[in-house]
Order: sequence, then C-alpha cells, then structure tokens
Amino acid sequence: MRGAAGHAVEVRRLAGKSALVTGSTSGIGFAIALGLAHEGANVMLNGFGEPAVIEDVKAKVAAQGVQVDYQPADLGDARQVGALVRAAAARFGALDILVNNVGIQYVAPVEGFPDERWDAVIAVNLSASFHATKAALPGMRLRSWGRILNIASAHGLVASPEKAAYVAAKHGLIGLTKVVALETARTPITCNAICPGWVLTPLVQRQIDARAQEGRLSPEQARFELLAEKQPSMEFVKPEEIAALACFLCSDAAGQIRGASYSIDGGWTAQ
Ligand code: NAD
Repeated sequence: MRGAAGHAVEVRRLAGKSALVTGSTSGIGFAIALGLAHEGANVMLNGFGEPAVIEDVKAKVAAQGVQVDYQPADLGDARQVGALVRAAAARFGALDILVNNVGIQYVAPVEGFPDERWDAVIAVNLSASFHATKAALPGMRLRSWGRILNIASAHGLVASPEKAAYVAAKHGLIGLTKVVALETARTPITCNAICPGWVLTPLVQRQIDARAQEGRLSPEQARFELLAEKQPSMEFVKPEEIAALACFLCSDAAGQIRGASYSIDGGWTAQ
C-alpha cells in the first residue's frame, strides 16, 4: 500500500489484537510470536527456559513495537492452561488469537512406551489445546472475533513407527480443529490447523542426535537421512515460513478458511 506522499506504508494486519502463543520460548512458537507481533498484535509468551533466554525472547518480540508479557504455566496441567488463558486476557484486556503450539515428543515402540510418557504427550500435545480453546472461546464470542490456530504436524495426517502418542495426539488435534470450526462456523471466529514437516528446532535436533548416536553417524549424515526418509524437498521448513502462514490465517482475508489443515512439509504428505 502507498501513503499520500507515495511512500510504501506497512499495513499491520493484526494491529490492536492480542495473542497467546503456547510454547513460545523456542522454535516454531517463538517465530509465530515474532510474526504476530510484527503484524501489530500484543503477545503473551509461554514456555520453559532459562531466565536470560526468556528475557531475550521477550525483548525480540517487544522490539516489534507491541506489548509483550510472559507466563511460565506448565501446560501438562489442565488447571494451569485455563489460568494462562485468563491471565493473557486480563493482561491485554482481551484474547483475540490463540495459537496452540506447545508440543513434546517421545520415541519408543508401543510395547516399550512408558505409560507416563503417553499421558504427558497426550496432555501437552492434545488436552492443553482443548482446555485453552474452552477457556478462550467465551471471550471471542463476546467480542465477535477470534482466531484459533492449532500447530499439528505431518504426523496429524500420516504416521511413523515409534511415535504412538505424538501421532495419536496430532491426529486428535486435527479432529478437535474440525469440531471447533463447525461449532463457530456462523461466527467471525475461525479454527484451523497447520501441519509442518521437519523444522530444525530443538525438538527435532534431539531426534537427529539420537539417530547419529544409534547409527554412529556424523551430525550431517543423520540430518541427511532424517530428511531423505520423509521430506522430498530435502530442506527443513523454516520457522518463519510457518509464522507467515499463521499470520495469514489470523488475517481477515482468511475469514472463510474453517476447519482446514494446511500442510507445510516439503512434500512429505504428497507421497
Ligand atoms: P521446541 O521444543 O523448539 O519448542 C517447544 C516449546 O514448548 C518450548 O517453548 C518449550 O519450553 C515449550 N514447552 C514444552 N513443554 C511445555 C509444557 N509442559 N508447558 C509449557 N511449555 C512447554 O519445539 P518446536 O519444534 O518448535 O515445536 C512446536 C510445535 O510444532 C509442537 O507442537 C510440535 O509438535 C510441532 N511440530 C514441530 C515440528 C518440527 O519439525 N520441529 C514438525 C511438526 C510439528
């Protein structure tokens, strides 16, 4: 867009909105928080991390010229999820955008999958999104506007061995996305999912390290094998690319995108 003097004018599509991004002290969540802030939204951050890292994340998001705060809620605990949503709404006066991004991984065959790891992955990767959505919806309905984005995975659409809890949770998250989209279909509130392929974040780096150790591979070989097995582009998806899609889905232009699951996976699920 051009201003009166013909200069390019940046349009901040989410100016005046307020967002909560769960698990945003690292990786994809951090990139989405940065992207939403760049579009003008105030952001409540959440996640674990050293105090210095959290301060750094806060400063980078605040540098986009918006209000930023942080809550350390553990989203494996349902009560803390609801409290986090209420804290975000209280801090900014409203919660317009909820990004259910938090996620953890555990890799083991079903027979050897520890029960407590199953419970933790389902709690963090699936139940937290339910509890956050339940807590955020009444305010969105009251103000007649809302965006709920669930960060699922290629593993929400297809499976891999040894990821029972993660695959079950991510398939469940896509189901939850569709139900919430239907229940809000006649309102200006939308709910959609994003399904990334491999993104080089700490969550995936741990899987590369395990592969290198098990196969006595160099880090480069392990990274190459991980991509070659699933991702035809042979390139990692960049967190900023996911953030750009998230910002579009939060914009008014995406008002009739409802219950969709967007793959951004280098061709993984096209195979
Ligand atoms: P990451 O490990 O870099 O970040 C996870 C974030 O969640 C961190 O901020 C961490 O502190 C926080 N967190 C973890 N457990 C928490 C808890 N109990 N309570 C509160 N915060 C908690 O991971 P990432 O790769 O950025 O993943 C983000 C999301 O994207 C996840 O849902 C993941 O499943 C999904 N995803 C990742 C990839 C990938 O290749 N990295 C691919 C598809 C989907």
